Formats: sequence, C-alpha cells, structure tokens
Amino acid sequence: MLVLNSKSNISVKDEEAYSEIMPLERESDPVGGAVSDPILEIRDTTVSFDMERGESRVLDSVSIDIQRQEVLGVVGESGSGKSMFASALLDAVVDPGQLSGDITYHPSTDESVDLLNVSPEELKQLRWEDISMVFQGAMSSFNPTMQIRGHFKETLKAHDYDIGEGIERAHELLSDLYLEPERVLDAYPHELSGGMRQRALIALSLVLEPRVLVMDEPTAALDLLMQQSIINLLMDLKEKYNLTLLFITHDLPLVAELCNRVAVLYAFDFVEAGPTDELIDEAGHPYTRALLNATPNLNAPPDEMQPIDGSAPDPVAVPSGCSYHPRCPLATEECIEQDPQYYSMSSNHAVACHHWEESVEAIPLNHLLTEDDAASPMEPTAESTSENMGSTNEVADNEF
Ligand code: SF4
Repeated sequence: MLVLNSKSNISVKDEEAYSEIMPLERESDPVGGAVSDPILEIRDTTVSFDMERGESRVLDSVSIDIQRQEVLGVVGESGSGKSMFASALLDAVVDPGQLSGDITYHPSTDESVDLLNVSPEELKQLRWEDISMVFQGAMSSFNPTMQIRGHFKETLKAHDYDIGEGIERAHELLSDLYLEPERVLDAYPHELSGGMRQRALIALSLVLEPRVLVMDEPTAALDLLMQQSIINLLMDLKEKYNLTLLFITHDLPLVAELCNRVAVLYAFDFVEAGPTDELIDEAGHPYTRALLNATPNLNAPPDEMQPIDGSAPDPVAVPSGCSYHPRCPLATEECIEQDPQYYSMSSNHAVACHHWEESVEAIPLNHLLTEDDAASPMEPTAESTSENMGSTNEVADNEF
C-alpha cells in the first residue's frame, strides 16, 4: 500500500496564502491559472452526445493549461469524464460524440496548432508523433494475431518513418523498459505477461518520439510492485526524452507520488487544481477531501477510511448549481442555486466551491503525515523491484 506524502508547509490559516481570494470565470479561465510555457491549452472544451433522454454532456466546458515537461495528474471517480478528457486531447471522441471548444498545441514556445481545426491528415500525423496515448489494458490495444514487431512496423509505416531506424529505436526503448528487445518483438501479445505487454505498449507509444504522453489508467491492471516498477521506468523515460506526461487515474497515491500538479474532475468539469503537495495537504473542495479520505493509506486505520456516499451524476441529469450538492455535507441553498466560480486559494491553486474555507475546517483529512512517516515500509526496495522486473533472461524463461 502506498501512502500519501505530506510535504507542504502551507497552513490553511496562513492569511498570506489566501490573500488573492477572488472568483475566476469557471468556463474560460484555466483551472489553477495559466502556466508560463503551456504545451497544451484547453479552453471551454465540451463533449456531448444526443440521446433520446436528452443531451449527455460527458465533458462540460473544461479549461486547463498543461505546462511543457510537467507531470499532470487528472483524478476523479469512475464516470467523472477522465477518459473523455483524454480522448478530447487527441480529437479522438467516438461517433456520434460532438467535441467543441479550443485546444491549442504548442510544439515549441513560438508555434501553435489549433488541434480541433486541423485536416484529418495533419491530425493523423499529430497523433503518435506529437501526442501519444497509452490506454489501460494493453491486451486490447494489440492485435492478438500480430507479433509485437508487426505493431511497431505498422505504426512506423503509417507515419512514413524509416522502418530500420524505427526498429532500432524500439530496441532502445524496450531495453530502457528492461525487456529483451528481440524476444519481445518476436512475441505475440498473449505470450507476454500483463506487465510486459504494458511496457511494450509504452515503448510503442514512444517510438515516434512524441512530446506529450497521455496515460489513461496505465497501471490499473497490474499488481502494486509492477505498478511501482513501471512508474519508476516512466519517470526515467520522461527525463531522458523530455516528455510531458498526463496521468489520467483514480489512484490518488499514484499522483501524490508522481505528479507536479493535480486536477480533480467531478461531474465532467474540473472542481479543483493545484500543486500536488498543496492539494494533498490543503484541498479546498469537499469532494477532493472526500476522495482523500476514501483513499487507503498507512496513516489512517481502516475504520477511518470513509467511502464517498452516493454516486457520480448521470450526465443527462447533472444537478443544478454545484453538481456535488446532493452528496456534499456542507451544501446550502446557495449551492443548490449557483454553480460556483473558481476561487483562488493561492497563486496556482483554485477551487470551485462557495464554502471552501469552511470545508478545510469541517472535513478533516485522515492521512496527514509527519516527516518521519514519509518513507513507506510498503514501497518496493531496489531489491524487490529488480526481483519483480526480473532480469531479461528470467523474463524470457518465466514469461514466454
Ligand atoms: S459549493 Fe456547496 S455543495 Fe458544492 S462543494 Fe462547495 S459546499 Fe459543497
């Protein structure tokens, strides 16, 4: 079991930290504020489906910036819109979904691409070459009748890359991920373990040298030690290839450990975003605090873990005012009637809640740690990690 780290020294009572309290537009201002060097700017982005029951908005006017080379975590429970957000970034919303808004990609500081208005040919190029994605469950991402080598070749060919050079790069990536390149390239997906398939998929997603890697629950199907190993490898790859990483996950300990910033989705819109340490220690939104209190951690006995009452809203019938009000212990008439704007808790920490100051006082967190608690006895040691990953020969012997 991982723990939520508690590194921030910011006090909720620190008046300076809250000196900039001011409402911000929920729809057009990026949650958490604009960043200095955005690689992606997402504004008023909506995904909707026309259904017999009415319009289903599965992403509702979200706005956020993603800083070049940051690791951003997007968290929320099932049905909050996380995967739809990932699909929107690549204009990959399935029919008959309708995607609207603005998504601007900056390959470099002085270049801009309007992602929702490029030609199908340009879009095809941008996917994989600039923005790549790894989905949960590698098995369903691979064609079971094709060797892993065939997947690499197909991707390289579709993007007019030199096959020889691409396969060389595949070798390097697979080695970086502690896989034996030739054996993995010659294998069919079913001949690999879950962890090996997931690593092969990560290598495939990086073979065209993208700048942004979007990972939708990349380790959800793996055991804890394999998750930890893959995460460590990803962080190495991020440094080596100057990647911007976007983790879409329900796993708060994972984002606490990895991400520079966290953005919380509830009912298809961001309700809070901020630097990871600040958000973990001083979350302002009752939903974020409930998520934290529902997360297993070593510092809270099991009876202090609190499941969140109720369920995520139906996208056809999102509650009026603040969409969290039917589940919120602090809800008032104002909450039922008025959708809150973003309030700035610090220069880059924003929260959409009328009563965030009360929330900090009224909903204590059960995970706060002292510095001595920061090292988790459950975190894998170098020894256990190497054992779990196996030498390439052990992998070959055990997994093929
Ligand atoms: S605005 Fe009201 S209902 Fe919504 S989270 Fe805040 S206190 Fe709860």
